[in-house]
Amino acid sequence: SLKGKTAIVTGSNSGIGLGIAREMARAGADVVLNSFTDRNEDHALAAEISAEFGVSARYVAADMSDGAQCRQLIETAGGCDILVNNAGIQHVAPIDAFPVEKWDAIIAINMNSAFHTTAAALPHMRQRGWGRVVNIASAHGLTASPFKAAYVAAKHGVVGMTKTVALETAEEPITCNAICPGYVLTPLVEAQIPDTMEKYNMGREEVIKKVMLERQPSREFATVEQLGGTVNFLCSDAAAQITGTTLSVDGGWTAL
Ligand code: NAD
Repeated sequence: SLKGKTAIVTGSNSGIGLGIAREMARAGADVVLNSFTDRNEDHALAAEISAEFGVSARYVAADMSDGAQCRQLIETAGGCDILVNNAGIQHVAPIDAFPVEKWDAIIAINMNSAFHTTAAALPHMRQRGWGRVVNIASAHGLTASPFKAAYVAAKHGVVGMTKTVALETAEEPITCNAICPGYVLTPLVEAQIPDTMEKYNMGREEVIKKVMLERQPSREFATVEQLGGTVNFLCSDAAAQITGTTLSVDGGWTAL
């Protein structure tokens, strides 16, 4: 159980981050949700989690493209026992046409944010005498696809940083690991299904298996609940000696 532990999940007002926060709350953790917006519906997500799982939950707005705001998120939360670096964006373009501002934003949000939040969170974990850093990388942290130079660079960077943080905390009750998902069924992915069905003149199942999951041997999406379960495992005592490594949740993608 994660009772009594506080988890900060960056980029958690939708998709995988929200799913992870919900599964951690189900396991008893108090959770801090985050994104860069500060809307009523963002705060309502925290209230829903609190009501559903009987834990303390709040939403703290902070823009993960800004290093100072990354560090401020940790301090506003009063530190944490568990840090899940999940915020991320994507842009697809050949490298000679890759917009510089997109490159900079992806490197900042997908990689640099984890540097800033981890640097700010570790002193709190050391003071509490326990800690878990879980970085949500990607199959693209281990392998590449064309037209995703910034994303692939940032995710490989996160995997490298994960190993270094693990070595720096190796003799302490703190671990740092990266989860590498393949395709995950999030609202964003779900929303692409109708258009893709029309484009290929295929049914839903055919589009999922033949087009979207072409590289995922299981031909199944991973779910946000499965990713939450993987984070919870890395926070468990059974995973205390797992550090500095990657855990793929990709239906066999990186085995190919
Ligand atoms: P998503 O777009 O639903 O979620 C991204 C989250 O990051 C959102 O909550 C968004 O508000 C937040 N975010 C974006 N920019 C931010 C900023 N500047 N500051 C703070 N928060 C910001 O997408 P997702 O699929 O849930 O992705 C979550 C993570 O999982 C990302 O790091 C992504 O690279 C990774 N991932 C996703 C998949 C997939 O198939 N969906 C596969 C592998 C890895």
